[in-house]
Amino acid sequence: MCGISGVASFHPIHDRLYEGVHQLEYRGYDSCGVAFVENRHIEVRKDVGTVDEVDSRANLRNLEAHVGIAHTRWATHGKVTRENAHPHVSCDGAFAVVHNGIIANYRALRERLQQAGHRFRSETDTETIAHLVEDHFRRTGNVEAAWVATLRELEGSYALAMISVHDSDRIYCARQESPLIIGVGTDANYVGSDFNAFIEYTKNAVILDDGEYGIVSKDSYAIKRVRDGEVVEKPVMVIPWDSELSRKGGYPHFMLKEIHEQPQAARAALAIENSAILALVQAMAEARRIYLIGVGTTYYVALYGQYLFAELADVDVLPVSSDEFRYLDKSDPNTVVLAISQSGETYDTLMSLRHAKERGAKTAAIVNVVGSSIARLVDHVLLQGSGPEVCVVSTKAALAQMVLLTRLAIELGVVRGKLSRGSQEAACDALHRLPGEIETLLNERSGLIRAAAYRHAHMHNWLFLGRGIYYPIALESALKMKEVTYLHVEGMPGGFLKHGTLSLVDENLYTLVFVPPRESGELYTLTVSCVEEVRARGGFVIGFAFDPAPGLFDEIILFPPAHAITAPLLPLVGAQLLAYFTATALKRNVDKPRSLAKSVTVA
Ligand code: GLU
Repeated sequence: MCGISGVASFHPIHDRLYEGVHQLEYRGYDSCGVAFVENRHIEVRKDVGTVDEVDSRANLRNLEAHVGIAHTRWATHGKVTRENAHPHVSCDGAFAVVHNGIIANYRALRERLQQAGHRFRSETDTETIAHLVEDHFRRTGNVEAAWVATLRELEGSYALAMISVHDSDRIYCARQESPLIIGVGTDANYVGSDFNAFIEYTKNAVILDDGEYGIVSKDSYAIKRVRDGEVVEKPVMVIPWDSELSRKGGYPHFMLKEIHEQPQAARAALAIENSAILALVQAMAEARRIYLIGVGTTYYVALYGQYLFAELADVDVLPVSSDEFRYLDKSDPNTVVLAISQSGETYDTLMSLRHAKERGAKTAAIVNVVGSSIARLVDHVLLQGSGPEVCVVSTKAALAQMVLLTRLAIELGVVRGKLSRGSQEAACDALHRLPGEIETLLNERSGLIRAAAYRHAHMHNWLFLGRGIYYPIALESALKMKEVTYLHVEGMPGGFLKHGTLSLVDENLYTLVFVPPRESGELYTLTVSCVEEVRARGGFVIGFAFDPAPGLFDEIILFPPAHAITAPLLPLVGAQLLAYFTATALKRNVDKPRSLAKSVTVA
C-alpha cells in the first residue's frame, strides 16, 4: 500500500528513481510522482495513474538530478487527483515531502498554518508536513532542526522522505508505525518503504525504527532519535532475496508465477529448523488462551489453523480478524497471540500485537518479510521464507503459512500426548509429499481448470461451499476469486446453506463444492448432501473432489489422492488457478486488482 523511494547518488538518478517507484507498484496505488532538485529549485512531476502512464504524460525520467524522492499514493485523505498526489511542496517551494500513512492531528496543524498565512493546494494530511517544515525553517534556519521540530509535532503513522533546496544533497526521512528502510550502496544510498525499492542495486539495508529519523546522502547516512537527537548505531543487514526472483520469469503474471512457486514455498516452510517450531509450541502448550490473528487471507489461514489445532492437538485456539481484535482481546500473561502476516507490516495485526503485548501476552508471528515490524516485535518469529510475493493477492505465502500451522499443530499434538509417534511420522511424511503433489496438480490439472474457467467466466454469482477444514478453504478460495475477478463469490460452510442462502439458488448462481476424500467418512457424506440440496433446486454444481462420483456433479475436477492432513491444500491450489484463469478470461488487472493494496499499512 503506497510506496516511497528515494535516491542520493554520485550519478544522475533518472533510471534508479523510476525503477524504485516501479518496483513498489505491486503494493497498490492510484497516483504517483517524483521530486528532485535542479538548478537550486525543486521540480515536482506527478499525476493520477500508473507509473508508466504518468511517465508518458509528465516525464518522470528525463532529469539530471543526483538526489530525488518518489511516491506511489493510495489515497486516504482527499480524492484521487493530481493536486493530492505526492510529492507535496511548501509555499515557497523549498521543501518537498512524500508520505505513507496518516497524520492524525493534521486538521489542527493545518488550521494553525493557514492562520499563519500558509496556502494549501491539496486536501491531503501530507501537505501539512511540507508547510510545517517551512515554518520551522523560518525560525531555525537549519533543515535538520526544522525536520526534527516538525516530527515532534506529528501524531499518527508515517514513513516520510523529504528533500530541500536548502540542503540539496540529502534526503531526510523518518518513520512512525509505517516501514522505512535505508539501502546502503557503493555509489548511492537509498530510502524505500520496502526492499523492492532498491534491491536491484544493493542488498545492504538498515531498518529505521519508530521514533527515528535518517539523513541520507550519496556517500553516507546517519540515523538519530527524534526525542533527543542521539545518533543510533544500527546493524547493516543483508537482504536474502534475489532480485531475479522478483521478476516474472516468463509467466504472464506474477500471480501465475507465484502459484507455480508453491512447491518451493512449501519446501521452504518445511525446511525451517524444528527448534524454532518447538520453542513456539512450548509457549503454546503452557498458555491458557491462544489467539490466532490475521486479516483478509491470513484470517482465513488462522481459521484453517483452528481446525488443525483442534484435530491434531486437541487444543482450542481462537481465530480473530485483526481489525476486530481490540474489541475481543482478553490477553494476560497466560495468553499467546500468534499473528500471521505476509508483509509483517499489516497495520491491524501490528496494532493487535502491541495491544496484547501491553496486557502481558506472549506474542509470535508467521511472517514472510525479514526485518519487518511484526517480525521484530514478537517474542517468537517463524520466517516462512517464501520469497517475494509481488501479486497483490496472496497465494504462495498463504499456502506456506498453512504448512507451518500444520507443523505447529503436529508438534503441539505430540507435546500434549494427543498424537502418537506413528501418527506424527505419518503426518510429517504427508507434509513432505505435498510439494510433489502440488507439482503434479499444476502439471496435470491446470488445463482442465483453465477450460472450466473460460467456460464459466460469464457467471456473475458464485457460492463456494466446504465443511470442516474445507470451510476455511472455501472462504479463502472465495476471497481469491472476488479479489481478482470482481465477481460476487460467497464462501460458506456447507451446513449453513439450508439456513438461508439456499433461497439464492437458481440458474444465475453456480456452486463450487470442496469435497473431502471419501475415506473421511461423515465429512464426505455430509458434504455430498449439500451438493444434493443445491442440485435438487436446479443449481449448477462443480465439484473439487478426490473420488469420482458419477452423476453427482454437473462438472468435476478430480485431485490426486492425498493424506487427510494435506488434502485440503490441493483444491486450494485448484481454486487459485480457477480465480486466475477466470480473471484472465475477463481481462482483469490480475496482479493489481482495482482498489486493492498489497500491504495494508493503514487502519
Ligand atoms: N494520507 C496520505 C494521503 O492521503 C498518504 C496516503 C498514502 O499512504 O499513500 O495522501
